[in-house]
This record gives sequence, structure tokens and C-alpha cells, in this order.
Amino acid sequence: MRLEVREIQSKTILTPQDVGSLSKHYDYSLNPYAGCGFGCSYCYVPKFPNRDHQPDEWGTWVNVKMNAPELLQRERLKIFGSKIFFSSATDPYQYIELKYRLSRRCLVQLKNYQPAKVTMHTRSHLILQDIDLLKSFGDKLQVGLSFPTDDDSVRQQFEPNAPSIKRRLELARKLHENGIRVYGSLSPLLPCDPDRIVRLISPYMDRIWIDEMRWREVNNRPDLIEKYKDFFKEDNHQAVRKFIASKFIEE
Ligand code: SF4
Repeated sequence: MRLEVREIQSKTILTPQDVGSLSKHYDYSLNPYAGCGFGCSYCYVPKFPNRDHQPDEWGTWVNVKMNAPELLQRERLKIFGSKIFFSSATDPYQYIELKYRLSRRCLVQLKNYQPAKVTMHTRSHLILQDIDLLKSFGDKLQVGLSFPTDDDSVRQQFEPNAPSIKRRLELARKLHENGIRVYGSLSPLLPCDPDRIVRLISPYMDRIWIDEMRWREVNNRPDLIEKYKDFFKEDNHQAVRKFIASKFIEE
């Protein structure tokens, strides 16, 4: 799929988390890109209005906030001692990060100004390019790795442009071996083999964040909800979720 990439200058980079699910644990979210080339079918981000793009264009455009590192330097007083979620509305290690290295440059700025906690949230092995930088944060940094299913054919349908399950497992293993704390983001939990998903990820993580698919009004593949309707039935989904959650600590 063709990706429309625009280089922009942003006015701010740290978004205060006063309301919403992140507000309990984080002071700010940090999104170096707007839009996301992974374009997951269930993504909730298109629910929030964008001046230039319609919800059904989600996954076809990315705005690159070229001045993000400089903005972090300017907003450095906010960083000291704060808890930062990196990123809530884009994947910081989507493929154009290879060209722009913007997430890396933002991490370098964060390191300079000593946040209390940084959570990198991704489904991409490209984060491994920055492993030394991640390690330099010590126990102040953790990685939330998206792992919504164990079945790559399911992943291909819901997240056709994102890295495979095999790559994510390899990523989990490498992060774990390098002493970087990882938790699994099973959000939303997609059709899966619950025993297998537990078996695959538990060697590398003991905590998960598990949730259902929300905001179905912006889901761009309602046919998949229909196709897997037995899995998504409320009582089945709750039972699978409860089983998997019982094997981990909930994040
Ligand atoms: S990677 Fe995250 S932000 Fe990007 S489309 Fe998927 S769910 Fe949305």
C-alpha cells in the first residue's frame, strides 16, 4: 500500500495525560509521528478527528514531526521525573523510522533530561536498532510489545502491514536477554489459541495488558468481526481473556 509521508513542524510534543486509560500511570504521551503505516484494522486512533484525513484513510499517511527532538529540548522541564508513554497514537518503530530515526533522537533527548519512567509501545523489531540506548535507561524503561494473537494468519488479516508474530517473539526474546523489561500488550485480544499464546510469551514476560476491541465504529474490517464472531462473543471473549490473565500479572 502506498504511504503518503509529509514532513511537518509540530507545535508541541508531550501530550498531558489528564484523562483516559493512560492517565493512571503516565504524565505524558509522546508521538513523534502522526498517522501510522501499520494501519491495523481495529486501531482506535482514527476515532479522533484529523483535519486532513478521513478515518477510512487510516494506514495510508504519516506526518513526520521533524522538530520533535528540538521540542523535547524546549519542553525539558516537563521531562524531569515524569512518566512518559511512547507512543499512544502511532508506532514509534514503524518502517519510516529507518529513514528518519526520529524515535531514536527523541529517546536521546529523554535520556538527557531524566524521566522517572519511559514505556516504549511497539509491535516492531526495528526497536532493536536502539537496544544500547534502551539499556542505558536501566530499570526506568520498559517495552510494551503488542502480541494480540499467536496465529500469524489472524495477524495478517487484522494487521497486514505489521511485523509477523515470529518476529515479535524473536524481539521479546532479545529484549529479555538484554535485561530490558517487557510486558505483553494483548489489546485487543484477537482470535488465538489461549494455551499456545501463554506458552509462547511467558518465557519472556510475566506481565500483560489485556483488553477487548473497543470503538468498533472505526474498525475498517467489520467483515473480520463477522468471520470470527464466535471468538468475539462476549462470554467466549471474557473466558479466554480471564484464562490468559490468570497466568500473568495484569499491567
Ligand atoms: S501500530 Fe498502533 S497506532 Fe499503528 S495502526 Fe496499529 S494500533 Fe494503530
